[in-house]
Amino acid sequence: MTDPSSTSAGNPFDGRRVLVTGAAGFIGSHLCAALLARGARVIGVDNFLSGTRDNVAALTGAAGFELLERDIAEPLDVEAGLIINLACPASPVDYQRHPVETIKASVLGAMNLLELARRQGAVIVQASTSEIYGDPREHPQHESYWGHVNPVGARACYNESKRCAETMFATWRSQYGIDARIARLFNVYGPRMRANDGRVVSNFIVQALHGQDITVYGDGSQTRSFCFVDDIVDGLLRLAAAGSDAWGPVNLGNPQEITVAALARRIVALCGSRSALRFMPLPADDPVRRCPNIAVARATLAWQPQIDLDQGLSATIAWFQQQAGTAR
Ligand code: UDP
Repeated sequence: MTDPSSTSAGNPFDGRRVLVTGAAGFIGSHLCAALLARGARVIGVDNFLSGTRDNVAALTGAAGFELLERDIAEPLDVEAGLIINLACPASPVDYQRHPVETIKASVLGAMNLLELARRQGAVIVQASTSEIYGDPREHPQHESYWGHVNPVGARACYNESKRCAETMFATWRSQYGIDARIARLFNVYGPRMRANDGRVVSNFIVQALHGQDITVYGDGSQTRSFCFVDDIVDGLLRLAAAGSDAWGPVNLGNPQEITVAALARRIVALCGSRSALRFMPLPADDPVRRCPNIAVARATLAWQPQIDLDQGLSATIAWFQQQAGTAR
């Protein structure tokens, strides 16, 4: 698949002013680096609720990069021709600890950024989520599926407000004609996940590297489909560079579905660890199966993941080893 920045149309990001919200987060920091590498001028915004300055330390001081401490729940005025919105706590532990902030970031943040895009005639891309499908009754999940969501459940602060944000993107598009686009990201993992953010990949890797029991919730038969962060960044850039007709919503994920128990065993093996699996209670409303249908992304963005689970996990494990100074 060709890189969207090397097509015959030229590099669509060269010299462009791009606002990345959630720039100091896990995905945001990788996206900023990719945009800078393509010659964009990047204005990163973060409120540092779940993002960290460490994530962007390598970019700070780089030509063309500026980092602003702002909360998108408040109106903001930043000049940009492209806005990519990644600002929101995304791990279940984070968003359940900060439910009001999560709703404000998703809903008020979307409104503020859509109005900013409207004033400036900017293209705006929303990082939505597979969570909008809730605990799906249809497999794999195609974009046409409406989902199965508990509006007052433990995950509602995230999945319902992300659903509302999608509605707002579609509505601002139809009512005001702005170029708003939506990607639904499925379980992204990779270097710079926070060791303590509670997500399954980071938890299992940290536990395996320290020889601790692996905390499998439920019987481990629930499935997820994990997508390496570089593939997600590539998909977001393709969506940003595509024609406006390809606005989405589009699933971005890796259809390699795996049970949580199998993931635990895979990570233990790749870490060369002797950790045992410990089964613990399943959190409320934990989706039973999740797997993206990526036919739309293949057809409209010529996108599909390039990095399989073992490759991505190995790169992620190496990064955690380096961080912890536990490299053997
Ligand atoms: N999970 C687990 N052990 C952990 C953390 C998570 O078994 O230490 C399970 C969780 O119950 C869910 C899956 O792994 O079924 C993915 O959880 P995560 O929080 O990474 O993301 P989700 O897809 O649920 O938003």
